[in-house]
Amino acid sequence: MTTVPVPAGSLFGPDNLPYGVYSVAGSAPRVATRLGDTVVDLAVLLDDEVFARPDLNAFMAQGHGRWVAVRRQIADRLAGEVPDEALHALADVTLHLPIAVADYVDFYASEHHAANLGRLFRPDNPDPLMPNWKHLPVGYHGRAGSIVVSGTDIVRPCGQRKGADDPVPVFGPSVRLDIEAELGFVVGTGSAMGDTVPVTEAERHVFGVVLFNDWSARDIQAWEYVPLGPNLGKSFASTISPWVVPLLALEAARIPTPVQEPRPLPYLAMEPPWGLDVELSVEWNGVEVSRPPYREMYWSPAQMLAHLTVNGAPSRTGDLFASGTVSGPAKDTRGAFIELTWGGTEPVTVGGEQRTFLEDGDEVVLTASAPGPRGSRLGFGEARGRIVPARGVG
Ligand code: MN
Repeated sequence: MTTVPVPAGSLFGPDNLPYGVYSVAGSAPRVATRLGDTVVDLAVLLDDEVFARPDLNAFMAQGHGRWVAVRRQIADRLAGEVPDEALHALADVTLHLPIAVADYVDFYASEHHAANLGRLFRPDNPDPLMPNWKHLPVGYHGRAGSIVVSGTDIVRPCGQRKGADDPVPVFGPSVRLDIEAELGFVVGTGSAMGDTVPVTEAERHVFGVVLFNDWSARDIQAWEYVPLGPNLGKSFASTISPWVVPLLALEAARIPTPVQEPRPLPYLAMEPPWGLDVELSVEWNGVEVSRPPYREMYWSPAQMLAHLTVNGAPSRTGDLFASGTVSGPAKDTRGAFIELTWGGTEPVTVGGEQRTFLEDGDEVVLTASAPGPRGSRLGFGEARGRIVPARGVG
């Protein structure tokens, strides 16, 4: 029996207790939590077979009451001595995709990002926001099957693009490969077809939060997106962090969203809508190039889930909805390189080299932290990905 040590200043102290899926050599993936730099097998710790599985879905489907009770049990057990066979050094394990992703929707909830993209994609339009933007959380349905865990290489996508001076479209590897620094929200329990999830109920359906990198090929996107929205410019890969931070751990991080004016329709109205005070960081080849502030996001996650289901579309355990790029008002808080380099016209210097969009071999790492109770800070781990050359061309 051992007491799990927590290094001073750890972002994975006893107030965090995220959920992930790990394996060690020769063993099948199982559900764990993390305390300090120790991975704790929950099937062993709690003697509960729901955690002896390769994803969190079965546990999430048990519902909010169980999430509350299990979180308390984990905290109680880890406050004392625990069996050595439950414990693994973080450095000794492989972390896996923590959830079986059901449906995936990406929103567009940052006013700063939406306005910047409007100026870049539609420079002749006097209002950078589309007329619907302040009335509903704009989103599109993405590809669940290409969501991968941190550390997975990202193959440069190929596709069609057509520059302003190209008479006809050309095909080839994307030359404007970008990131979008976002948070992703994991739906733990869904809603039946025909039903809706009211804004006041959303927090009982959302299990937790992950970091989310919505890799984006801007040249493919720019040519394909009218009139039905992003498709192949986004669907090749999205990276999430391996640890799901429970929404229950983020009570101290809840803050009101920015003021919503005009007032949303009744099914979206909240008094006030809650956001999250999560501070993101974007590292490009080891250099921090941006610190996107989630507190600036206009639409609440609760409003996103209410909007997702207001037409009676069902939601399911394992659904993932992402926030859209997190961008603040200042240049060094923009969460996509197309904004940070203003369409590639203002390069940034990383490691002595000039960059606009991603080159083969480049690596991007998203991290984040949020306030916890009693002055603590909680971490989200990282969403890391390296660009490898396009396949099947040349
Ligand atoms: Mn996105």
